Amino acid sequence: MRACASHNVPVTVTAGRSGVSGASVPLFGGVVIDMTAMSGVVSVDRVAGVVEVLPGTFGPDLERALETHKLTVGHYPQSFDISTVGGWIACLGAGQFSTRYGKIDEMVVGLEVVLADGSLIRTGGAPAAAHGPDLTSLFVGSEGTLGIVTRAWLRAHDAAAVRRKAAYFFPSFAAGMAAMREAVRAHATPAVLRLYDAVESERSHGGDGTSSTLIVLDDGEQEIVDAALAVVARCAGNNGAIAAPDERVDHWLEHRNDTSGLQALTKKGFVIDTMEVAAPWSKLADVYSSVVDAIRAVDGARSVSAHVSHSYLDGACIYFTFVGQISSRDINDATTAEHYRLYVAMWDAAQRAALAAGGNLAHHHGVGLNRGRFMREALGDAFNLLVAMKQTLDPADLLNPGKLGLPTKRGSVKFP
Ligand SMILES: Cc1cc2nc3c(=O)[nH]c(=O)nc-3n(C[C@H](O)[C@H](O)[C@H](O)COP(=O)(O)OP(=O)(O)OC[C@H]3O[C@@H](n4cnc5c(N)ncnc54)[C@H](O)[C@@H]3O)c2cc1C
Repeated sequence: MRACASHNVPVTVTAGRSGVSGASVPLFGGVVIDMTAMSGVVSVDRVAGVVEVLPGTFGPDLERALETHKLTVGHYPQSFDISTVGGWIACLGAGQFSTRYGKIDEMVVGLEVVLADGSLIRTGGAPAAAHGPDLTSLFVGSEGTLGIVTRAWLRAHDAAAVRRKAAYFFPSFAAGMAAMREAVRAHATPAVLRLYDAVESERSHGGDGTSSTLIVLDDGEQEIVDAALAVVARCAGNNGAIAAPDERVDHWLEHRNDTSGLQALTKKGFVIDTMEVAAPWSKLADVYSSVVDAIRAVDGARSVSAHVSHSYLDGACIYFTFVGQISSRDINDATTAEHYRLYVAMWDAAQRAALAAGGNLAHHHGVGLNRGRFMREALGDAFNLLVAMKQTLDPADLLNPGKLGLPTKRGSVKFP
């Protein structure tokens, strides 16, 4: 980093390269630093449950190393096999078990970071602090634009004693959302709480085309897991649900990281992507219907569906999948200018509808390149603060220039 700084060479950090927003694409040449050789668990404080880990460590390697200590970090993104600790931190990721274990920002105790001038700093390190704003959070979600994470200390949980599952069919998506909200507000936070709309329920979760499926899974101590599932059962019943077979959860567990179906469609010329946003419970249903309507109105859009994937006391993440097709005869896998236009049109419609209805810009896929154009409208004047932080920490604009929608003097960002 010091060598690049002295020669004004831009540096883009890459790791698992599983990011879906183009964050690790070097836009202006320079050096790409591959972090994946900087891998492994350095130390484990079994008493505190804190693990010191290098940033290029992939999910399975981290969890395998912790198994011997009977610990788990509990971060299981769909990209668990192909993404790294540093990438999770840089993109503010969320795992599928986040309702119990939290998002990555809740797991980070402290960081070691290389700054743009090559100096090395450490942040955090205690269970809580009150010595000014939290400097760790400056780098969590910064997508390689403010510093390079070279070491992380993560909170780990004791390995779960028991696992329990349940599933429900709801008469509507809204009824399922109400049950989730009531359960989480009552502090029932099972690790997995996922609700599929009628389209996704019918496609993959045993629905009949009108019902919504809720998948529930919890890990932990028997009494806590029993209580969480009992509260969810009560809230489901209060909102008109009927019990679905537990095999719905097993089916989800078995297929949850398999995205080959989507890849088969893109090879046939379909334009497909996913968009995840967070919204307060009071606005979630509106965000859902606004985004669905906005995508359907795009010429060439063929299908849109969603599930609620991560829940919080005040709201949830809703995750959309949309598919478009230029013409029914378009079955080759070449990406043309038309495909590109349709892709951008669906994104523009979906993201702007989500923002207008009270959703945010992103829940866990980050901003990267694709969402840079929405940053100013999403953040308002607060975006100026991010620009100022970038200019202070990296005045020569060396680190991942052109990402997060940040202005750059290195050239124009050609996206979209
Ligand atoms: C099939 C699929 C499913 C996915 N599911 C999920 C999911 O469930 N949850 C979720 O959160 N995400 C998911 N993602 C998105 C992606 O996996 C995450 O964003 C992940 O955190 C990226 O990690 P990575 O190691 O692949 O990083 P990369 O893609 O290599 O890099 C992403 C960004 O992080 C920066 N970066 C990486 N390492 C460092 C470092 N050490 N220091 C500073 N910056 C760094 C890069 O510069 C870049 O800006 C999914 C992606 C795919 C393809």
